Amino acid sequence: MTKVAFAVGAHPDDIEFLMMGTLMLLGDAGFQLHYMTIANGSLGTTQYDTRTIVEMRREEAMAAAASIGAEYHESICSDLDVFFDRPTLARLSSTMREVAPDIVLTHSPVDYMEDHTNTCRLAVTAAFARGMPNFPVTPPRATVSKKVTVYHAQPYSNHDPLRQLVIPDFYVDVTDRQEEKVATLAKHVSQKQWLDESQGLDSYLQTMRDLDAAVGRMSGRFEYAEGWRRHLHLGFCAEDDDPLCEVLGDRIVDADS
Ligand SMILES: [Zn+2]
Repeated sequence: MTKVAFAVGAHPDDIEFLMMGTLMLLGDAGFQLHYMTIANGSLGTTQYDTRTIVEMRREEAMAAAASIGAEYHESICSDLDVFFDRPTLARLSSTMREVAPDIVLTHSPVDYMEDHTNTCRLAVTAAFARGMPNFPVTPPRATVSKKVTVYHAQPYSNHDPLRQLVIPDFYVDVTDRQEEKVATLAKHVSQKQWLDESQGLDSYLQTMRDLDAAVGRMSGRFEYAEGWRRHLHLGFCAEDDDPLCEVLGDRIVDADS
């Protein structure tokens, strides 16, 4: 049976920044890929009204997902409206059952802003509730019984909100996929334009290179890398299950090696 990977980010472009290299590599390994941002990017502008920017960012995210062959899932709330509440959880849980992933990629449990942190909580609990028939999901959807392993990306900037450095469990080498990864970020034209104008030419894309280079330096081995931490197995999978490392083993180095 085809294995499935589901990337759940907060905003359009978060998957590209923090998870895209690993997601592409899972696609190369034969995984079916799924892409969803909880929020619709409504606040990512000083120029357009809400309706316009939401439609622009939806198109951009769909283009980025399509460029790696990932199935796009619609956002379910606005920026700064990502709360760990029942309606949002019920909707994400329905999508989680529909996708039935073997691997979930999502944000760090601690990150620089609450949409990211809450997205992580929502994704973890939606995965946890995948097999619980008495948990109502919107729209209603049958439960799934398969195991799932959840992995957390690095927080944006590699630091928690109290400025402490976050060391991942392991690093994935994305050096030879870096420019493809940058190309997926470049699909987010509205964000590139905004940040390039306010912060200088190509600053948007360069920020990604700089972040991946920083993680690469942390790895002590790779030029560009993404860092990951594996969620505790309880309620999700077997203690030793680590499908990401199994599949991408030859381009992974552990933090303590
Ligand atoms: Zn974000």
